[in-house]
Amino acid sequence: MREDLLNELMAEYEAQRARNEREEAARREKIRRECPDIEKKASEREELIFGTIHRILDGEAKAEDLTAKMEKLNGEIGQMLLEAGLPEDYLAPVYRCPKCRDTGYAGELIKEPCECLKNAYQVKIREKIGLGVAQKQTFESFDVDCIPNEIIGKSGLTQRDFSLHARNECENWANLYPNVQKRDILLSGGSGLGKTFLMNAMTERLIERGINVLMVSAYTFLQTARKSYFDAENGIKELLEVPVLMLDDLGSEPLMQNITVEQLFHLINERQARGLSTIISTNLPIPNLQDRYTERIVSRLTDKNNCIVLTLEGQDLRKIVRK
Ligand SMILES: [Zn+2]
Repeated sequence: MREDLLNELMAEYEAQRARNEREEAARREKIRRECPDIEKKASEREELIFGTIHRILDGEAKAEDLTAKMEKLNGEIGQMLLEAGLPEDYLAPVYRCPKCRDTGYAGELIKEPCECLKNAYQVKIREKIGLGVAQKQTFESFDVDCIPNEIIGKSGLTQRDFSLHARNECENWANLYPNVQKRDILLSGGSGLGKTFLMNAMTERLIERGINVLMVSAYTFLQTARKSYFDAENGIKELLEVPVLMLDDLGSEPLMQNITVEQLFHLINERQARGLSTIISTNLPIPNLQDRYTERIVSRLTDKNNCIVLTLEGQDLRKIVRK
């Protein structure tokens, strides 16, 4: 687990335990004010616990005595609470997760991360990486049957051929990274052809393999770059340094003079100089990409020695599904 995320989670668990304590105190206060009979029994139970523990320690009582008395009292209190229109366990300790009592770690002798902590970690790392909490898009869930199989134009290939080729290249790359021949990938093609799906699938595979990866939209990248440009904020650092960066939907961000192109060049140049991998998807055909971002950028993105260029062709799959 990443230490920074684990620290964030531990702080959240601590806040949860504080909320639990406040909730317990509020419930006890309500009983004190509104239900004197139950209050009397609850105080009796507390005295029993503390008093008996002392007597057990002093050798005057046995642990079994306490258990039997406690069960009887708990039953009585539960019944009284029900009669007062409250839940039976209203005065029991409050936890979101009874397994770890909101500490994040469970187990008798050896404490291990609780299921709730593992799940919370998954949610957090997916958020951090840029994956939604929506259904996972993986290579396994890539469904070729929904992709049209008629030959497109003069290529002699079908939309399914293009998709399968791109899928195989991407999966292969994600399996082999960092031992890949070409460091970067450019995925181009119209909207709804599965580019983002392929990026999500690569990201999932890289996470499974324990590789540090980040996915951002070109829009988010530009916002981050602007902030570091004008406000000297350092959010851009992570984008410059992460081993694998997925930059989704290049071309959809606003084109701002002296900023968009400069920042994109800086990003690509820095990452290439450090030998880091960048996967880019774009709806724009390569000539349009060149018009928008200059030849100097596009020649780096399409350099056959370092970059796998994958083109998807065909019709918007989202529209086909809707028909
Ligand atoms: Zn738990």
